[in-house]
Amino acid sequence: MAAAGLPPRQRDSGGVSRHPLRARRDLRGGGPFRLDPGPPDLGQRQPSGIVSDAAFEEIGGAILAAARDQGPIDGVLLHLHGAMVVDSYEDGEGELLARLRAILGPQVPVVVTLDLHANVTEAMAAHADALIAFRSYPHIDQYERAWQGARLLDRAMRGEVRPRTVIAKRPMLYGLDWGRTQRGPMAELIARGEALEAAGKALVVSICAGFPLADIREVGPSVTVTVDAASGDDGRAIAESFMDHAWATRDFTTVHMLSVAEAVARAREGRPGDKPLVVADYTDNPGGGGYGDATAFLRGLIEGGVESVAFHAICDGAAVAEGMRNGIGPATLTLGGKTDPRLGGGPLTLSGEITTISNGRFIAYGPMGGGVERNYGPSLVFRVGGIDIVLITNNGQATDLGQFTSLGIDPTRYATVAVKSMQHFRAAFEPIAREVVLVDTGALCQVAPTPENYRKVRRPLWPLDEIDAGAAR
Ligand SMILES: [Zn+2]
Repeated sequence: MAAAGLPPRQRDSGGVSRHPLRARRDLRGGGPFRLDPGPPDLGQRQPSGIVSDAAFEEIGGAILAAARDQGPIDGVLLHLHGAMVVDSYEDGEGELLARLRAILGPQVPVVVTLDLHANVTEAMAAHADALIAFRSYPHIDQYERAWQGARLLDRAMRGEVRPRTVIAKRPMLYGLDWGRTQRGPMAELIARGEALEAAGKALVVSICAGFPLADIREVGPSVTVTVDAASGDDGRAIAESFMDHAWATRDFTTVHMLSVAEAVARAREGRPGDKPLVVADYTDNPGGGGYGDATAFLRGLIEGGVESVAFHAICDGAAVAEGMRNGIGPATLTLGGKTDPRLGGGPLTLSGEITTISNGRFIAYGPMGGGVERNYGPSLVFRVGGIDIVLITNNGQATDLGQFTSLGIDPTRYATVAVKSMQHFRAAFEPIAREVVLVDTGALCQVAPTPENYRKVRRPLWPLDEIDAGAAR
């Protein structure tokens, strides 16, 4: 859906942070930095383990209490992710929507926007009237989807339409090229869905690639189609034909990873004045639950004597604290690989120079979440040989050039820029890159699923099981 006619985004921060750096230094004694971390940050959480019942009840409870106590409610527009797993509920969003529906009754329209990595379930399709998933990966269309949802909700509240949603799935753990929208089956289906919306054949067509790292029964890609109940068509034929395409193309992938040795060799090819080679550690992606402290590629760069590298990041609050006690200047730090040394390499003890210390707060300015404050917690730049290593306290994948520039690093001036991300980094970093490659450091987010890690998924399920093509529906 085109962005035409939408109010402009508020993206330009004017370069002014609402939380200026709070570092002070005892100049007389050359003593350590003390950093006031400022107000608690509630806006930046990373995928991780299962959501506790207590967190679900408290946060979900606030939404439900508002629906119960602040009525009458004419309509609801919720922005959810769609792959939440809670201690007591495999389908966190489905549970939340079921409880909300029980409060509101069947007539109040509920429109939900989703991440395209949602594991959409029967309960979500049943208890929401419309599900509107992102159509870009990197996700840069949240604004347009929110407006699409608001406009549909407005029409529903006026009684112009009665949205109803059906869902189709196949026995697939993953597919649709992990949701990549540059080309391939995901892009093809999104284009077909938008054409159907434009032609009035459906109110919404949403394609979700799923979140295959969740061990739940209803994991996997889905298509949901929302139609007007008065149209006489339930949208099922569209949903099924789209999922036929997703099933037929399930092997298609644009994810091709280099080994650490291969990536180091590529980094070595850079020449002064070149645009940077951008190397993304796919498997240590914090957005997929990676710990963000994998050291294997950094170790390879150091052992290979590679120079002119900007490295984002090693998430290691203990190493940052140690560096802050040391202050600006020469230092020896043990960093990374502490969460689980088996995944992506163990700790590195390195001698170098601390060149920057920051509170880790800045306002992003790139295509993904521009205008929104980021908070990586106390952060520093540790220069080892020709490598500027960013150390952060709050985990997060690299999606904005501000993650470097806020620390005094201009990534365009390096032969190699290393990031931790599967795909989201491309929105900001592809435009500055001479080339983008992916590296496998053996960290948490492996492409090949480990069958013994899946105990709750429905079976049979491709690729854990062989499935007769004709039996897939
Ligand atoms: Zn996503």
